[in-house]
Amino acid sequence: KREEVPASVHGIDPELVDRRALDVVETLQDAGFEAYIVGGAVRDLLLGLRPKDFDVATNATPEQVKSLFRRAFIIGKRFRIVHVVYGRGRENEVIEVSTFRAFLDNSLAESVSGNERTSKAALAGMKHAVDASGRVLRDNVWGPQDQDATRRDFTINAMYYDPATQIVVDYHKGIQDAKKRVLRMIGDAATRYREDPVRIIRAVRFAAKLHDVGFKLEPKTAAPLIASQHLLNEVPQSRLFDEMLKLLQTGHALASVAQLRSLGLDRGIYPLLDVVVERADHPFVKAALADTDRRVGEGKPVAPSFLLACVLWQDVKQGWEQRLQQRQHSFPALQDAIDDVFNQRIGDVSGRGKLAADMREIWVMQPRFEKRSGATPLGLVEQARFRAGFDFLRLRADVGEVEEGLANWWQEFQQADDLRRDDLIAQAR
Ligand code: ATP
Ligand code: MG
Repeated sequence: KREEVPASVHGIDPELVDRRALDVVETLQDAGFEAYIVGGAVRDLLLGLRPKDFDVATNATPEQVKSLFRRAFIIGKRFRIVHVVYGRGRENEVIEVSTFRAFLDNSLAESVSGNERTSKAALAGMKHAVDASGRVLRDNVWGPQDQDATRRDFTINAMYYDPATQIVVDYHKGIQDAKKRVLRMIGDAATRYREDPVRIIRAVRFAAKLHDVGFKLEPKTAAPLIASQHLLNEVPQSRLFDEMLKLLQTGHALASVAQLRSLGLDRGIYPLLDVVVERADHPFVKAALADTDRRVGEGKPVAPSFLLACVLWQDVKQGWEQRLQQRQHSFPALQDAIDDVFNQRIGDVSGRGKLAADMREIWVMQPRFEKRSGATPLGLVEQARFRAGFDFLRLRADVGEVEEGLANWWQEFQQADDLRRDDLIAQAR
């Protein structure tokens, strides 16, 4: 049932809406289309949180959207959406515009690609969109707004905000759930997890993110989580890796670990995530998780390479020590230990090459920090990834793995002028 909720009830402050999102909505509406801010941004505005990004939903097709903006790009094969780009370089911002989609097609797309038992009848009815292997080729069956709402995951993620009228369109009592602080899956939770098992991880993520503002998972949404967990075996490793990073790098890493544990999902979602949860109480890993949360909270960038380098540091150290005992030379021993850790812990994920290179650089810098004479210090500070290596050293000092003085020395050295640097090198001898 469609409910139109006025500002006096939902209380969203229109000043908090991103001006580029406003521009997209206005442009579409002026061209005669329906357009709304949708999803996570509406949820966060409603809760008084600062939205991470603003998505727009419309009844215009991607081609129609594209034609209305100077810099707009249709992206994605299965889920075709439009990126409208504002600004340049570092300041650039993308507003994602998606066309209202039909519910049936979408759930089918996800269940088929997830290798699920989709009924033969349903498949036959969708023949035009399904290839020989049963995979849905394109998910571009547009539908009315109410179906677009129903295909979304949680009730609080399925609301539409029209900045022109300040009305929130709500089909699933999202406003009420937001007020009551419940995270509720739309429809039958077990079915929705089967359609797309990644929703299991999303449930954990939103439970963690919204924990501080008082949210609880609705019992019926939480109940099938454990029994559904095995469905994640069907999800490609690279998608799981990306979802893991969203758990760990959106400012709620410690809360996510706590949720995984309290929901009984602390093992089996994804091998590398198991390691994180297992080690989350180790002082060094805990410090890294807390540091990541703090940085995100302050609006600073975070890199997966840094956090993962922290999580896997003990494996590297162990492998390195073993090799040293076998009388291998220090540098090749470290390199070999790092190779082993990659092979054992990091699967086939997107951006693996860059990730591995960055992690390796952080690790290889660590023994070099111990050498404070000759040309080594100068060479080190000039390295592109020095900052990451130094932050890593600082964390090691914080937990007592190296002398506090060593980190302080490097702190001073990187900021010092040439003369002072000579002094520092002389002192360190
Ligand atoms: P965040 O603040 O982390 O970006 P979000 O709610 O915006 O949270 P997104 O992953 O950006 O999450 O997705 C945008 C919207 O798309 C969601 O709010 C939800 O309505 C819908 N959505 C995303 N992923 C799924 C999914 N797997 N199943 C159903 N709906 C989904
Ligand atoms: Mg979002």
